[in-house]
Amino acid sequence: MRQRRRCFHVLVVVMCVLSFLAAVPQARATEAWEGKPGGSLTMLYADDREVQTYVAPPTQATELRAQAATITVAYEGFPPAAQASFQYAVQIWQSLLVAPLPIRVQAVWTELPTGVLGGARPEGFYVNTITKISYPVALAKQLMNRDPSPGEADIMAAFNSSGVTWYYGTGQTPPGQFNFTTVALHELGHGLGFTDSFGVTSGLGGWGSGGVPLIFDRFVVDASNTSLLTAARYPNPSIALTTGLQSDQLFFNGPKARAANAGKSARLYAPNPFEEGSSVSHLDEEVYPPGDPNSLMTPVGARGETNYNPGPITLGIFADHAGHLRRSGLGHRRRRPAAARPAAVRVPAALRPPAGRCQPLLQ
Ligand SMILES: [Zn+2]
Repeated sequence: MRQRRRCFHVLVVVMCVLSFLAAVPQARATEAWEGKPGGSLTMLYADDREVQTYVAPPTQATELRAQAATITVAYEGFPPAAQASFQYAVQIWQSLLVAPLPIRVQAVWTELPTGVLGGARPEGFYVNTITKISYPVALAKQLMNRDPSPGEADIMAAFNSSGVTWYYGTGQTPPGQFNFTTVALHELGHGLGFTDSFGVTSGLGGWGSGGVPLIFDRFVVDASNTSLLTAARYPNPSIALTTGLQSDQLFFNGPKARAANAGKSARLYAPNPFEEGSSVSHLDEEVYPPGDPNSLMTPVGARGETNYNPGPITLGIFADHAGHLRRSGLGHRRRRPAAARPAAVRVPAALRPPAGRCQPLLQ
């Protein structure tokens, strides 16, 4: 089972996270944010399973509210049907996000290796020099309340134009076909921040660069609720960290994610051996199988699998990302003078979601 998963979802390393973080020049010490280029592209491979499952889109009665985010897409080579299907994924994410600044996506329709469905990555990261945590640009721009790279894409996504029997509709996927909107939703999820920096190199587990983790990493814990960033338990790099990453017992322990999961931490995918590009940065396939409300961000997708909703855990994870600055004491305080407020974390209070609604992805 594990072996099959690894075959179906692998990472194609354009540049490893460690190398790209190390390669960029240091920003001025006075800046609150330091820019870093995007790193690796995660490629989702076709699963040979055939299922007939359906997860409905957010509905007006339950989750859908007025759009509070704008996602703009620059399409390259897309046939009209694929573009319409991608736009449906965009519409779903827009209905769930709270994001003051537009998020830009570059979507490329191109021939990818046989069996590959698509891939995506954040096009850049920004390190908050106070918290020493790196954020994907789609989130970082919301937190700093300005566009640090005007005109440039925040997310890059590519989809296979060859050899995949796509279903572009908005209903149940017919047998033998792959739902394009579902794959687009999944890949946009990675681009928006469902991504980690953990890896195993020459047997040694490690994370980040220069002691700077990604925001997702900050919430990853083991079975005893110990953060994998705890140096005393998991030196970076170390064999202990390798063991932890391969333990099949990793969880996302943010308060919003827990609240979306009946009070429990969300189970992450952590097989042995470690799978570059799949481990950690997905929810567990067995705990959240096709048809489960939280199955969108699991490591494999199957023919006939139909999912039009990121699910409450993923939305909780993104809310935890956005809320971390505030919980660390650096967040938005409405009564403070603007001049005394850290520029990096100004968030308009009016953009906070109404009580009782779904958790915001970005705020
Ligand atoms: Zn994925």
